[in-house]
Amino acid sequence: MQGIDPDKVRRVQVREEQVFRQKNTKSLELHTRTMQAMPNGVPNYWISYFPYPHPIFFKEGKGAHIIDVDGNDRLDFCLGGSACLFGYGEPHVVEAVAGQMARGSSPLLATEDAYYVGMGLRRVFGLPYWQVYVSATEANRNAIRLSRMLTRREKILVYSGGYLGAVEDSFAVLDHGRVELEPGVSPNARDISRMSRAVEFNDIEGIRRALADEQVACVIGEPAITNSGIVLPQPDFHQALREITRKTGTLLVLDETQCIGAGYGGYTRSANLEPDMITMGKPMAGGIPVGLVGMSAPVAEQVAKNIFSNPAVDPGMGSTLAGSALQLRAIRAILEHSMTERNYELMLLRADALQAGMERAIKARGLPWTIARLGCRMEVVEGPAAAKSASESANHGGSSPTAACLNIYMLNRGIYLTVFGNTVIASPQVSQADTDLHERVFNEFLNEVT
Ligand code: PMP
Repeated sequence: MQGIDPDKVRRVQVREEQVFRQKNTKSLELHTRTMQAMPNGVPNYWISYFPYPHPIFFKEGKGAHIIDVDGNDRLDFCLGGSACLFGYGEPHVVEAVAGQMARGSSPLLATEDAYYVGMGLRRVFGLPYWQVYVSATEANRNAIRLSRMLTRREKILVYSGGYLGAVEDSFAVLDHGRVELEPGVSPNARDISRMSRAVEFNDIEGIRRALADEQVACVIGEPAITNSGIVLPQPDFHQALREITRKTGTLLVLDETQCIGAGYGGYTRSANLEPDMITMGKPMAGGIPVGLVGMSAPVAEQVAKNIFSNPAVDPGMGSTLAGSALQLRAIRAILEHSMTERNYELMLLRADALQAGMERAIKARGLPWTIARLGCRMEVVEGPAAAKSASESANHGGSSPTAACLNIYMLNRGIYLTVFGNTVIASPQVSQADTDLHERVFNEFLNEVT
């Protein structure tokens, strides 16, 4: 059995950083210049989190490939954190968006597309009623707000270590049985344990205890954790979760933002789940900012009657650009041409090939590693088994020196992995040549560091 040699990892890291600098001189120049206008030289601080010497500046993308300002062509397994899941520059999305821009983008009036978008979302995800917002973060904030208004309860329940966007009430973790603010998050003058409870994912007894006093408005979380490593639900988890939430009058909100890649109709449809609401955003308008909340018929009925049409209530969740003509046009194009069963087949086929390639490489060297996978997303787990909770998964690499080294190694050889956890997200545009390239470079990396 071979192991990872930390000295080799360090040496490869130093060499790859030099290679990176040689290959990305224009990006460095632009980054240095942008420093004069933006903190960290980037328009969104996330962009400076990458494990290489400076950010890369993007020029254009086509299909599953991107080209940067230095002319480096890279196979993109990050896809803007899945915002561009179905590929860059998709002609039908380009045409739809450009046409709508020319006709008028955001008139604060409904368009005929609202009907087709609502019906299309119902067809794909199963939930019958929908609202449009500007980000998945906003969709989650509003799902929480709706839950509190409908149940007249204050608290929410989240999974410790899960991520639901920049949603303050969700930054709750369990620390030795106590609900604390996630490490590093500023309290912003609020006591998180007043608004939120937290349990480990897959902990049915914990959920039962947290909901027993019927003080919780909603359980909100991903149906499978994708943000603290990939953590899949245990076989009986969702059934028990639904039973307990129903019994205690707690609404169940499933965040499909990243689970959309699990299969056609997201995790909810693939696993036949029955949430009260689902939330999403990212790829649903091909990269145009969008957030969506899908509601069951009983929830939608109460929302319409008690909240949206009640003159005594200000829902407090409007947004000028939400539900714009431009968003609707883009969502419709995605639903009709990108989010198709055929594209899901392709995505999952390529993901199978990527997983098999990595597993072959790991097995050939007898490394005690596994691949955690959810549909088109997968990650190397630097341990023998996938985790059952986010806390367990925190011990499984992802941000280890080996993981950082793998990221820059691949980047220098034309493969762009997601920065958080080296996630590989397979777009339907990935070709067999692409999956072969990935397997070859992954093997070369392991040859160098074992
Ligand atoms: N929900 C989940 C599960 C997410 O992973 C994210 C972002 N990664 C969000 C919500 C928020 O998305 P956005 O940052 O686009 O608002």
